[in-house]
Amino acid sequence: MARYIFITGGVVSSLGKGLMAASLAALLQARGYRVRIRKFDPYLNVDPGTMSPYQHGEVYVTDDGAETDLDLGHYERFTGVSARQSDNVTSGRIYQTIIQRERRGDYLGATVQVIPHVTDAIKAFSQDQTEDLDFVLCEIGGTVGDIESLPFIEAIRQLRNDLGRGQSISVHVTLVPYIAAAGELKTKPTQHSVRELAALGVQPDVLVCRCEKPLPEGDKRKIAQFCNVRPEAVIAALDAKSIYAVPLQYHEEGLDEEVLRAFGIEPGEKPNLGRWSEITDRLFNPEGEVTVGVVGKYVGLQDAYKSLNEALVHGGIANKVRVNIRWIDAELFEGDEAEVAAALEPCHAILVPGAFGSRGAEGKIASVRFARERRVPYFGICFGMQMACIEGARNLAGIAEASSTEFGPTKEPVVGIITEWMSEKGLETREAGGDLGGTMRLGAYPAKLAGNSVVASIYGGTEISERHRHRYEVNTGYRDALEKGGLVFSGMSPDDMLPEIVERPDHPWFVGVQFHPELKSKPFDPHPLFASFIAAAVAQSRLV
Ligand code: GLN
Repeated sequence: MARYIFITGGVVSSLGKGLMAASLAALLQARGYRVRIRKFDPYLNVDPGTMSPYQHGEVYVTDDGAETDLDLGHYERFTGVSARQSDNVTSGRIYQTIIQRERRGDYLGATVQVIPHVTDAIKAFSQDQTEDLDFVLCEIGGTVGDIESLPFIEAIRQLRNDLGRGQSISVHVTLVPYIAAAGELKTKPTQHSVRELAALGVQPDVLVCRCEKPLPEGDKRKIAQFCNVRPEAVIAALDAKSIYAVPLQYHEEGLDEEVLRAFGIEPGEKPNLGRWSEITDRLFNPEGEVTVGVVGKYVGLQDAYKSLNEALVHGGIANKVRVNIRWIDAELFEGDEAEVAAALEPCHAILVPGAFGSRGAEGKIASVRFARERRVPYFGICFGMQMACIEGARNLAGIAEASSTEFGPTKEPVVGIITEWMSEKGLETREAGGDLGGTMRLGAYPAKLAGNSVVASIYGGTEISERHRHRYEVNTGYRDALEKGGLVFSGMSPDDMLPEIVERPDHPWFVGVQFHPELKSKPFDPHPLFASFIAAAVAQSRLV
């Protein structure tokens, strides 16, 4: 039977609970255990799919088509375990399920209540599809004390009893702030947070204390005494130089050993952390550096491009270079040539990432043109591929009014909404004016690549599967015109209906993909497109 690790946070948000969960899972995995990480989000949206990136950061898409919290991206990057729909649940989804059941009459006249109905649903979710695992790590979003997270904490309390002795532990992540005026680290917020959690019936077994300065032994003992844990189970977590150094750092602090001891398991041999040492070694000792310009819309908030940021770092790891990302707000240069050049000239490569809506589109189209004409490596992802097609249509195929129906009615819909397509499940259909939540072309879809294409050589094969999240597609009615303009459709859906990849073979590196390769990149297994794109940036940096 799987053992459970419940992870809560206290004092403030943004303590890196998700990274802690991902790192702990990676450490357990390095000891040979099978792990899976789950995220409970207490908000009422059914999933983050309809939330603005400013509210919530990126929406992470799984192979099975779920739109999930960005922490699932960390989990997958750190463990290599593909996340699934069943790994992320929100209060909204739980209530939606319960209310649907209530309307069907499934409760047979009973009063439907938070306890037991909501808590039972949370418990069922935690235990779903866990048979083949050694450890399930469940991270609870938010901070202990929030009204919204109460049912989740209550469910943990119950589940700890249901599971029986030795089958679960509680890890609480808190902050030990440094007060400069006093020159001291303060343990009081941690004490209060643990008291709050204990009052809800959950006594932590391990405390992870985020701090800016090393936590002296005396402070550890004090926290242990007041919070009812052993001093060794007070783990200091200092800021790390890179997120990929976090697993090693937690291991040094004894996190994985303490977690095992809390289960009554003797830690035994050291974990095999070779791959983490290799990644950090490459990251901290680069042999060069390149600058990649990312022309986007949410550039003020890097969480909006979390996986993209990481995939570029992975491309750097693959090429042993540091990747400096220059975030460029597409709205600031709506096509003005001199401004576009000023923003992009310092870049060794240009990337236009996924986006929704017309704001900034002209700036992105101008960036594609700059990259094409100046022969700077260009990578267009999803919206970035669509803009590459519009640019080609306008400037090389003579279709001056080329546009996307996403921007309003157009005579030349080079990119258009799609309401019917084939998936593994059969024909998918959508209403043009239907629900926005969960209705895009979502999740893993296969594509076949032209044998002699650039992308086939990058992937080392002609059959791929990548994750999608979009409502619009490049219109194959324009394929001939675009190909005459030098844009080759080198990847298509298996039924030949949907363009998946376009490329310019006469350009040093010009690839547009309809999917999101960044979602599958891992530090120890960089995505081939990102590895190749950064290699092209390195080549470009030697030219200029
Ligand atoms: N807005 C575009 C679409 O829905 C692109 C989406 C994206 O880049 N993820 O097709």
